[in-house]
Amino acid sequence: DTKTAAPNVVMVTGGSGLVGQAIKEYVTENDNENTLSGETWIFLSSKDGDLRDRKATEAVFEKFKPTHVIHLAAKVGGLFANMAEKVEFYRENILMNDNIMECSRIYKVQKLVGMLSTCIFPDKTTYPIDETMIHNGPPHHSNEGYAYAKRMIDTMNRAYNEEYNCNFTSIIPTNIYGKSDNFSIETGHVIPGLIHKCYKAKQDGTPFCIWGSGTPLRQFVYSRDLAELTVWVTREYNEADPIILSVDEDDEVTIKDVALAVAKAHNFEGKIEFDTSKSDGQYKKTACNMKLRKYRPDYKFTSMPDGIQKSVDWFVANYETCRK
Ligand code: NDP
Repeated sequence: DTKTAAPNVVMVTGGSGLVGQAIKEYVTENDNENTLSGETWIFLSSKDGDLRDRKATEAVFEKFKPTHVIHLAAKVGGLFANMAEKVEFYRENILMNDNIMECSRIYKVQKLVGMLSTCIFPDKTTYPIDETMIHNGPPHHSNEGYAYAKRMIDTMNRAYNEEYNCNFTSIIPTNIYGKSDNFSIETGHVIPGLIHKCYKAKQDGTPFCIWGSGTPLRQFVYSRDLAELTVWVTREYNEADPIILSVDEDDEVTIKDVALAVAKAHNFEGKIEFDTSKSDGQYKKTACNMKLRKYRPDYKFTSMPDGIQKSVDWFVANYETCRK
């Protein structure tokens, strides 16, 4: 009887981060227009409980009694941190993921969506990469700890499905950017780093200097688009196997395109330089979104210049308080 069916409680771990805040904005904007009737959304930060700790995780499940869980919380970091702290990247992520999966089983969560990343794929691979290739070889040695912990989400999703009939799945975004990002030039990802750098160059009247040649190709997904697709996965995608949530292969852009869009969004009129003494990283890591396109053939992603303009406007408006 649908009238007496229990209401849905969707609990988002890592709710204070880049993706969590985008989901919050998506479901609450325009008077909760994207919230289904009877649906309650809970956004957790580490202050609500340290998910590395089993007792703290149980307390969160006891308190909120979620019917659905979107598990975004993770120990994340740049190349340097990943290389220096492989043990912590492995253990902290494994502990969080194990606590969330096991509690989701025990508290009879109807759907759990975990979060993978394209950077956990085999180092030596063919392109484009797709959902079937995650375990086909070792990840890059620099982020082994993080990558193996993330890969286990996929392995255990299938195990929980087979053994306990749990509806657990995962999503694989490409590079994410948007509001509420980490805009640190040292530890942030490429787009927020460039946004901050260009802001400083404009203020100081110095050149906007981009590390590397600007030629590498990347697929970027605006956090709000990822939010919308993640909510769709939570409600409607019912495979245990993961799904890549990314713009099309044709929408791959160069770092130079991104830098120019950042400069334009800042109205930066100074000099733009490329420091080719700095490493470029991988030339490309193209991901295939055919599975997503099978389900959502008409989904229209935010264009890169639009997404960057929104991110720059947010950064400038929140400069004093944002992560940087
Ligand atoms: P952020 O770094 O912006 O946010 C991380 C979130 O995790 C925060 O809400 C943080 O809480 C929470 N958290 C961290 N440690 C703990 C803990 N011990 N207990 C409870 N909560 C904790 O991450 P993103 O939004 O960028 O990433 C979300 C997910 O997406 C992650 O799983 C990440 O691996 C994945 N991903 C991200 C990509 C990207 O480009 N950003 C690309 C591909 C995948 P608090 O704010 O309190 O510290």
